[in-house]
Amino acid sequence: RGTVVLAATPIGNVADASARLRALLADADIVAAEDTRRLYDLANRLGVHVGGTVVAYHDHNERNKADGLLDRVETGATVLVVSDAGMPTINDPGLAIVRRAIERGLPVTCAPGPSAVLDALALSGLPTDRFCYEGFLPRKHAERVQHLRMLQSERRTIVFYETPHRIAESMDDLLDGFGADRPMALCRELTKDYEEIRRGTISEIRQGVIDDPPRGEIVLVIGGASDEEAAAAAPATLSVDELAVL
Ligand code: SAM
Repeated sequence: RGTVVLAATPIGNVADASARLRALLADADIVAAEDTRRLYDLANRLGVHVGGTVVAYHDHNERNKADGLLDRVETGATVLVVSDAGMPTINDPGLAIVRRAIERGLPVTCAPGPSAVLDALALSGLPTDRFCYEGFLPRKHAERVQHLRMLQSERRTIVFYETPHRIAESMDDLLDGFGADRPMALCRELTKDYEEIRRGTISEIRQGVIDDPPRGEIVLVIGGASDEEAAAAAPATLSVDELAVL
């Protein structure tokens, strides 16, 4: 039997590619890549020749493709799973093949490496001993408000992924949801030449977003609720009246 290997790829700085990633790119029988062009681009930049077959494996086909790939694992193939950047399965494809591999009793392992969650958390200066990862906030305003309400009494440090075109609205909602004074960090273009970390209160960072809109890829890290904030938090769900005005 072969193995499924999830491998993290650089999130901006190609020098973060591990020796193990290089070896896997060269030696895997099959590379299941979120975007095959980006995979070849990475391999070129690393100076690695991809030896195996490259197949597209993305959000839209991962459930259908998983079993076919696992059939190959059953007959001895190493299947490398990579996404466009960072760790597969973290807001990226990969979960379907992990689940099916577990169900079918086939080996699955990981070649760990860069992921924006941990990079941002470590640089935030906020407590790292307990944190929760929230992925992207909901797109719709009402759902976002509802979601932030649910997190109002969360005591762990909270990590969100964000995009430049929604950051201004999200900062408004974060201010409403968590108040002006919570400490936070806005982490932008991590590992790249223009990496920038803005640290301050929610209201300070919000003002900065208005004055100097951040571009590129963004992670927001928000301090957890204090005892007083957790005690004072509003009920986790919005009332019908509150929903009506959103
Ligand atoms: N699998 C990836 C990981 O492990 O971090 C995340 C993929 S998700 C589709 C893309 C989001 O991750 C971006 O919108 C941004 O929020 C975050 N991200 C990825 N690379 C980043 C970087 N270099 N700097 C800041 N945020 C980044």
